[in-house]
Amino acid sequence: MAVLEAAATLTDDQLRERLVEWLRENLPPQWVEAIEEGDDEKLHNARELVDFNDWCARLGEAGWATPTWPAEYGFLGLSGSQAKVVNEELNRWKVPRSFNIIGIGMGGPTIMHWGTDEQKQRMLKPMAKHEEIWCQLFSEPGSGSDVASLATRAVKDGDEWVVNGQKVWTTLAHMAKWGLLVARTDPDQPKHKGLSYFIVDMKAPGVEVRPLKQITGDAEFNEVFFTDVRIPDTMRLGPEGEGWMVATTTLMNERAALSGAGSASDQNVGGGPIDLIIAAAKRNGSAADPVVRQRLAQATIEGRVIKMTNLRSSAARKAGHQPGPEGSITKLFQAEYNQRLQDLAMEILGSKAMAWSPADEQTEVSVRGFLRSRANTIEGGTSEIMRNILGERVLGLPKEPSVDRDIPWKDIPRSN
Ligand SMILES: Cc1cc2nc3c(=O)[nH]c(=O)nc-3n(C[C@H](O)[C@H](O)[C@H](O)COP(=O)(O)OP(=O)(O)OC[C@H]3O[C@@H](n4cnc5c(N)ncnc54)[C@H](O)[C@@H]3O)c2cc1C
Repeated sequence: MAVLEAAATLTDDQLRERLVEWLRENLPPQWVEAIEEGDDEKLHNARELVDFNDWCARLGEAGWATPTWPAEYGFLGLSGSQAKVVNEELNRWKVPRSFNIIGIGMGGPTIMHWGTDEQKQRMLKPMAKHEEIWCQLFSEPGSGSDVASLATRAVKDGDEWVVNGQKVWTTLAHMAKWGLLVARTDPDQPKHKGLSYFIVDMKAPGVEVRPLKQITGDAEFNEVFFTDVRIPDTMRLGPEGEGWMVATTTLMNERAALSGAGSASDQNVGGGPIDLIIAAAKRNGSAADPVVRQRLAQATIEGRVIKMTNLRSSAARKAGHQPGPEGSITKLFQAEYNQRLQDLAMEILGSKAMAWSPADEQTEVSVRGFLRSRANTIEGGTSEIMRNILGERVLGLPKEPSVDRDIPWKDIPRSN
């Protein structure tokens, strides 16, 4: 299946037309009818006709899954505003999208910035096609917020590296083919300077993945143990000893991804759709309560504010800038906003949120959303850390005192 040629030269209307043509050719006829007729039940049934992996592969192959990725590597090479047109149309057609977010949202941009031509040729396409899932191996039991203090060691042996250590909270490690790994390559350097960044094969001998069960009942993240895992030097990303710089690219993109910056609609931005919460309030009569109405209005306003802020930062990226520390503003606001929104949903549902009939999928989704939202202020950097970044790097306030910044990592006292 060929990628649309010279897509970047098309007007917004032409682009939309070509995408709709592609969707009509690639979706089952029942799906097309359901969208045209606005029939949600028909759409629900049509979903069963689509194989998720096969669909994601076709969307990725055609370039629609990653519209701004470069034409040189087989993608569409669209601008940010053209990508917005594509995302709006994909949202309107309610098509499934890959959950390979650590790959597409973080690994892809990091590889495009730091990778060799061979790494880009090898890694980007299967990532976009959902054929190879990615995970991020940064956090360790003793190094979360202070990730630069990490202890996993990589020792050079000829043209390979030998890795030993442990990571934790590794989302999707149980499904991943590749991991974004930061390891210590020079313990004699201060903590930020002795790190290198690798792409590790999660199926290599010596990689052990153990799932961690969370409050929702799911196990989306894991502990990962490395015992004498060998990584070819060709899989190092960026210069030796510059792993912190490469990791910063990943972290900036992570904050942008977690803040909903890629989202085209303020309905998606909240993590829990406001419309559904309003509908639930109307159904059970709580929408008549002036306090509930005020909180719903406030939630709607905050959703719009996030959307506007994201549009501003995507305009900066469109102008060629990498995501900067201002991504911490939306990451912080989005995380706390989503928790407020999910709390409100629980209050509106009342005792129904404690027990519901198995057929009531909507309540189950809301309760799961509430439980999952607890993680929002921790994942991708805690809200306290976002406030530190904002204070220091956006507002220019004095830095937090740091006693271990300039001494060799091996001399810093550690508890493990
Ligand atoms: C759902 C979820 C998914 C995750 N997925 C991944 C993943 O895929 N890959 C990965 O590498 N990691 C992942 N993480 C880990 C996440 O990045 C860390 O949990 C986070 O950075 C916090 O680190 P920590 O848990 O070690 O807490 P700590 O760093 O020990 O922090 C404990 C508390 O101290 C506060 N604190 C720490 N330092 C400071 C400071 N300097 N100033 C003020 N307060 C401070 C923190 O805000 C927090 O409240 C995930 C976490 C969650 C919850």
